Amino acid sequence: MTRTVLVLNSGSSSVKYAVLEPDSGVLIADGIVERIGQDGGARDHAAAMKEVFDSLAADGHQLEDLGLMAVGHRVVHGGPDLYRPTIVDEAVIDRLKELGPLAPLHNPPAVLGIEVARDALPDLPHVAVFDTAFFHDLPAAAATYAIDAEVARDWNIRRYGFHGTSHQYVSEQAAAFLDVPLESLSQIVLHLGNGASVSAIVGGRPVETSMGLTPMEGLVMGTRSGDVDPGVIFYLWREAGMPVEDIESMLNRRSGVRGLGGEVDFRELHRRIESGDDAAELAYEVYIHRLRKYIGAYLAILGSADVITFTAGVGENDAVVRRDALTGLAAFGIEIDEHLNDSPGRGARRISADGAPTTVLVIPTDEELAIARACTGVLGARPGDG
Ligand code: ADP
Repeated sequence: MTRTVLVLNSGSSSVKYAVLEPDSGVLIADGIVERIGQDGGARDHAAAMKEVFDSLAADGHQLEDLGLMAVGHRVVHGGPDLYRPTIVDEAVIDRLKELGPLAPLHNPPAVLGIEVARDALPDLPHVAVFDTAFFHDLPAAAATYAIDAEVARDWNIRRYGFHGTSHQYVSEQAAAFLDVPLESLSQIVLHLGNGASVSAIVGGRPVETSMGLTPMEGLVMGTRSGDVDPGVIFYLWREAGMPVEDIESMLNRRSGVRGLGGEVDFRELHRRIESGDDAAELAYEVYIHRLRKYIGAYLAILGSADVITFTAGVGENDAVVRRDALTGLAAFGIEIDEHLNDSPGRGARRISADGAPTTVLVIPTDEELAIARACTGVLGARPGDG
């Protein structure tokens, strides 16, 4: 029987799932259970897990016939010491609970998802795969905040970076697409989804990334501010009397493109701009300005980039964002071919002009597949065995 992995991504109100064959990359089933704990939704994460199994069964996939060899869990924050794909046991769960405060929005629901899935599938190995892992060895100059060193050490404050599974997968795919060794490439990866981050990667190892202690730093995102002067937080707390939880929630949920333009989806944002909505236009301009600022900074860190790759919802689909991000950079060897950029496509594709020194690619990310493969790696099994 072909062996498969169930990949779970448990958020506070949703569980995304996928069943895949790690070796071939074939997706057998996927879906999402939403509105957990809300009206009309599953009562809790345990009920949501049952819904996952029910919808697999409704699609004709009985659990016992799926050939599951492992369950892979996406965990956002691995803190200072969890970074390799890790087989979950009680000690790992305890450690993940201790890390809760580092990622209060993301880690507690992931831990809940792991506990519920372990109860439901106790005979399978459960593997935690961390969004921070790829950036664990970020050079100290990039990983370190210039704050009181003792405070940073006592509280494990450093730049961890996130979306690592995607940045790693996409950079490897870029090398494979170009049929050149990963070790030979200087790359910039632009992961532009609801969350958004940039990384600079040399020879397959990250040397910079835009997210920090939390996924709030860096680019303007769907609902997150990205970089702000920390003074904004003290000012709101001290002068506006905003509780710190409200400030955190504002910066995470009511900022970014939504905070400025009232809209999180780029398709709708473009429509609003076309109909003369000034707020939507400003949101877009701030988004692009920040993106270009980071691309410029990363070009300075790398010297030059062999490859720049767009990925995730916006990066894969929005040709206007891609054009505006890279326009006017011919002096740096970066030139987009408008026709290639505008041509619809789903797979990996080149969009740079023929002969331009920097190759610009669009590559669909596949975090589920990367997590499934990480599981087979840690279990020491060759995918496809059995
Ligand atoms: P995440 O995984 O972070 O939730 P995704 O990578 O799925 O996010 O990206 C979702 C975002 O992608 C949407 O909010 C939307 O702005 C954007 N998006 C999706 N499809 C398109 C499209 N065809 N054109 C422009 N933007 C798109």
